Amino acid sequence: TAAQLAEQRGWQIYLVGGSVRDLLLIDRYQGATPTEELLFDDIDLVVDGFHQAADQAAGVELAKAIQNFFPNAKLQVHGRFQTAALLWHEDEALGSLWVDIATARTEFYPYPAANPEVEASSIRQDLYRRDFTINALAVRLTTPHQGELLDYFGGILDLRESLIRVLHANSFIEDPTRIYRAVRFAVRLGFQLEPQTESYIHHAIASGIYAHIQSEMEHTPALQTRLRRELKLVLEASYWYRALRVLARLKALVCLHPNLEMTPGLWRQMRRAHRTLKHFDKANSLEHWQVLLELLIASLEPAERGKVAEGLQLPAESIDRLSHLHTTEAAIAQTLPTCDRPSQIVDGLSPYDAETLVLVGCRSDRALRRQLWQYLLHWSQQRPPLDGNDLKQLGYRPGKDFKTILETLRNATLDGQIATVEEAKALLQR
Ligand code: ATP
Repeated sequence: TAAQLAEQRGWQIYLVGGSVRDLLLIDRYQGATPTEELLFDDIDLVVDGFHQAADQAAGVELAKAIQNFFPNAKLQVHGRFQTAALLWHEDEALGSLWVDIATARTEFYPYPAANPEVEASSIRQDLYRRDFTINALAVRLTTPHQGELLDYFGGILDLRESLIRVLHANSFIEDPTRIYRAVRFAVRLGFQLEPQTESYIHHAIASGIYAHIQSEMEHTPALQTRLRRELKLVLEASYWYRALRVLARLKALVCLHPNLEMTPGLWRQMRRAHRTLKHFDKANSLEHWQVLLELLIASLEPAERGKVAEGLQLPAESIDRLSHLHTTEAAIAQTLPTCDRPSQIVDGLSPYDAETLVLVGCRSDRALRRQLWQYLLHWSQQRPPLDGNDLKQLGYRPGKDFKTILETLRNATLDGQIATVEEAKALLQR
């Protein structure tokens, strides 16, 4: 439908970006890589070939035409004319699907669209602005030449040779988040960074690219937003540890802060956090990637932590947690050694959220850590055999004493003095 509409107008539609790459990789990875990596839930289309300025809203018009056929799809329009997105959220037939329809990023050409040179040059320009050769491939969806694969920069050869290669020397200087993308794609697809591309990364980092990111934040948050997105994608992936190793080898963590580097101690903390989160957070209610990122930031001087978190636009509670981590750690290190009983530990730790305790636990010594994990895994979950409703049924009325009784029951349970309803009732009799 969209293709027919486009053809009537003399437009071209192309499938571009990650889905072309992944389609071409399907044979290679069938069964050999987690299917999550090749999901095709995110499709990028580019419309091109205009002969009137008004056609620059082509992406939006096409999106509307498609929506007529799929009323379940939600339409979003970004920018004035440029991009439209169609979203299917948990659709019965399609599952979750996101289709971005962009208008080719090119100047307006006052020539007839039939001129193939003009058409070719505008999609070529669009592809040239992309990050890596393997992400700069396009498939034409409209006639003539429907199904044609456009490969202006050697992407097919790089796919075959498993190489991540940028399109031009300044790529990483222009957009340092591409360093993170290069590593993410390399590790995820089992590709290598092409040697020249890796030398461009070294050059970008040696030239102080991180200072650019940090100063950019004062003017426009766009770069920081992209950096946070890439950090999230890396840290929530199953291959996060391997990717972080490559990023550390490239010294790419300076993009977050000039003093940030992976020491053996920090690696241990990261492994610990990963194990603990997997073990204790079965309900998956903590944002694991965010805790890992906070742990990286926590390795910086206390005065720097809040600033870096703020720069990356982490949520307010995350900024707050990192800004106060040094005082929290000092308070916990002072309180816990004075506690003899679990109930005292629960009293000491209950003011803090789980993320804080995971951070403190990963960074502290073994004795303190053992108490923190016991608290997170067992004591914080333990409930007395009688709760408030049971007490009401037994004839107790809510009030000050009621709270004291509940606390007594909780403490006795935590300290192993009672475990059953009978034992709880016997305690109440005393
Ligand atoms: P994934 O499967 O991880 O979503 P993807 O290739 O679809 O991979 P996206 O981040 O969705 O990645 O980006 C879509 C396309 O946009 C990319 O394939 C690439 O062509 C282009 N792109 C994205 N980010 C950049 C960037 N920072 N610089 C240049 N091009 C980019």
